[in-house]
Amino acid sequence: MNDVILLKLGEVVLKGLNRHTFEDKLMSNIRRRLQHCGKFHVYSKQSTIYVEPQEDACDMDAAYDACKKVFGVISVTRARPCEKDKDAILACARSYLDGQLRGAKSFKVETKRSDKQFPMNSMEISQYVGGLLHDAYPHLTVDVHHPELCVHVEVREKAAYVHGPAEPGAGGLPIGMGGKAVSLLSGGIDSPVSSFMIAKRGVQLELVHFFSPPYTSQQAKEKVIELARQLTPWCGRMVLHVVPFTEIQEEIRRACPEDHFTLIMRRFMMRLAVAVARRTGCKALVTGECLGQVASQTMDALTVSDDACELPVLRPVIGMDKEEIVRISRRIGTFETSILPYEDCCTVFTPRHPRTHPDLEEVRRYEAALDVEGLIGRALQGVERITIA
Ligand code: ATP
Ligand code: MG
Repeated sequence: MNDVILLKLGEVVLKGLNRHTFEDKLMSNIRRRLQHCGKFHVYSKQSTIYVEPQEDACDMDAAYDACKKVFGVISVTRARPCEKDKDAILACARSYLDGQLRGAKSFKVETKRSDKQFPMNSMEISQYVGGLLHDAYPHLTVDVHHPELCVHVEVREKAAYVHGPAEPGAGGLPIGMGGKAVSLLSGGIDSPVSSFMIAKRGVQLELVHFFSPPYTSQQAKEKVIELARQLTPWCGRMVLHVVPFTEIQEEIRRACPEDHFTLIMRRFMMRLAVAVARRTGCKALVTGECLGQVASQTMDALTVSDDACELPVLRPVIGMDKEEIVRISRRIGTFETSILPYEDCCTVFTPRHPRTHPDLEEVRRYEAALDVEGLIGRALQGVERITIA
């Protein structure tokens, strides 16, 4: 019998009556993520999702990797099925985990038996298999509290399964269960992390990027497309809305005081992101803002940008230190791309002395010098939609 991948559900199991909707969503997300790895049968039984290859061409390593990035899964393990018979289980453990059994100093066998027809109970299976493994690998000691290797035996409906320790899954909730939001993606470190964090709570994302040619280069745009691509193993397929921002930035520079430049620019970003949200059925915005990180991220500055936005703004990294954000960014694989040195529209026309404690009424007065609606309308007309798969 071919190896299978067993996935344990995370918070999904707490969802009571909604549980089936969650499980179905999760399985359809898994099926989509596995499309490039071959044909798999994905189904759920007793709080476990089974991923069974249906053809020899299945790429099990790629499938395992993909499963580790699906939100809603708390642990992932590759397992070998065998006949539901105590000696078949023993033989399976010996052949499947031989390398690990040779390499370990101590071990134990842990059994779960959901098939209550099986003639031995869990304890008896563990004792039988453990005893004979001990004979076969006499260098091993049995340690039931802190074994170096835990041999897992699961006796389930269709077969018995043997596996070593499971690895942690991505956690969170299945994408699509938490609604949709627009995430503002710059080329920096923070916004890919904030996108990841909100997606983890089950939110399907639309991405928005503002670019300002010729002040920002084609390479800067490519970099953002690459970051979006790096997020897809976690966030699934997404659309990146690239919004032309040059005219808005030039107008603000022409008509508003320099120390208010960034503040007013951010209000335009909010309005444009809200417009994209309205077009795409999104109910919130997501940004990588972090309290006090830069002048536009003080509490007063955030008040000024929220004033231009009638949707909730989710800021998952608001209370994190840069170091903590960087750690996540490395783990999810976006860091190396984020630090490529291309300019962002936020770094062009940066004021020498930005206002850190702006006054909302004053900001509104300066902004009144601009044709806000016209600028927004023209920018929206120029939006380019890129599907990131
Ligand atoms: P990051 O590291 O993600 O660039 P940052 O700390 O540099 O964030 P800012 O440049 O002030 O912060 O931007 C704050 C947030 O505004 C970003 O995290 C992102 O959500 C959004 N943002 C900034 N620039 C852009 C852009 N060009 N396109 C889309 N969103 C942007
Ligand atoms: Mg930035």
